[in-house]
Amino acid sequence: MRMKAEQLYQIRYQIERVKAAHGFYAERLKGVEARDIKTKEDFEKLPFSEKADLRDAYPLGLSAVPDEKIVRIHSSSGTTGTPVIIPYTQQDVLDWAELFKRCYEFAGVTPMDRVQITPGYGLWTAGIGFQLGAERLGAMTIPMGPGNTAKQLKFMQDVNTTVLCATSSYALLLAEEINKRGIRDKLSLRKGIIGSERWGAKMRARIADELGVELYDIYGLTEVYGPGIAINCEYNTGMHYFDDYLYFEIIDPKTGKVLPDGELGELVITTLRKEGAPLIRYRTHDLTRIVPEDEPCPCGRDLPRIDVILGRTDDMVKVHGVNMFPGQMEDVLKTVPGTSSEYQVFIDHVNNRDQVTVFVETAEPEENRPALEKKMKEQFKSMIGVTIIPKAVNIGDLPRSEKKTTRVYDYRY
Ligand code: ZN
Repeated sequence: MRMKAEQLYQIRYQIERVKAAHGFYAERLKGVEARDIKTKEDFEKLPFSEKADLRDAYPLGLSAVPDEKIVRIHSSSGTTGTPVIIPYTQQDVLDWAELFKRCYEFAGVTPMDRVQITPGYGLWTAGIGFQLGAERLGAMTIPMGPGNTAKQLKFMQDVNTTVLCATSSYALLLAEEINKRGIRDKLSLRKGIIGSERWGAKMRARIADELGVELYDIYGLTEVYGPGIAINCEYNTGMHYFDDYLYFEIIDPKTGKVLPDGELGELVITTLRKEGAPLIRYRTHDLTRIVPEDEPCPCGRDLPRIDVILGRTDDMVKVHGVNMFPGQMEDVLKTVPGTSSEYQVFIDHVNNRDQVTVFVETAEPEENRPALEKKMKEQFKSMIGVTIIPKAVNIGDLPRSEKKTTRVYDYRY
């Protein structure tokens, strides 16, 4: 991705500000002067920041403005106990609303729409982000928050909701409930805006079909405003993001090297205008790629795109120089008829070579399995570029876990 002159200028300004604020970044960027950052390459030498750094700055160590400029805080919870607090200025709140308003516009939402917001409100950024953007657009908002499905459906019917904002799992639950009650004909829904997380194509198709709506993936994270920093348009060619507010890079999660456009890796975000808590080279651990500029979107919008989020970098493995991750393997198996959703991958180092064995459960009889395995092998080679040893096993043969299922076992190290 090119770095525009305007972006470079804004980055230098951000560096000056965070250094003057004597917070976390002043320490991190010791010895760096804004005026020394003259090119994209200079910028790429700056250190990354991580969620753990933000946590260490708890409670307000990230702030880059005087106290009286902060109008709100949000917080993202971590599994380790100490939360991250992100302070927002009035301008940050306005900017976030503006970005989110653009997202609604990309999804074809208009001031005539009625937007039912089911993500949570509070310290978390989700609900209030959906709210601000819809209000700025001029649509009517219905700030439901999560839960109470009966009430959600009542309002949906009585107020004639046209746009549903939800997580994928709640959208699916609502879709099932709507079908169970047979009330789809009484609803006016036409669009769903779904917080981007890894959700399978199957689930997406099911929600779209059962609700009878067009779906849009919206991306964001609390550390960088919240949801509303990227969204797909009607052509569904990845998510457009706003490069006047944000600078995106894709890096190899293992080496930290910046990767060329089109290659899969970890998304790293630098904020260009954020006042309260600017971020410089923040590692999201989200796995995606930047869509190359020579693949323009048919919508004609002059904004770069990232792919949908394909997973978390923590789940990725590298084999024969190729990065693989569970979501991608699921996509490959989906193209092989007869395979179930249960699979496991074992990677070992045998005779100086990485050897990948993929077990998949199938209900197919013995005599059909050689053909199924052959197809698996072909699809892994053509879709990921990795040669595997396929093994079809009976349904129930692979161990089940109550907790998060481990799919990939790497025995090489
Ligand atoms: Zn587009």
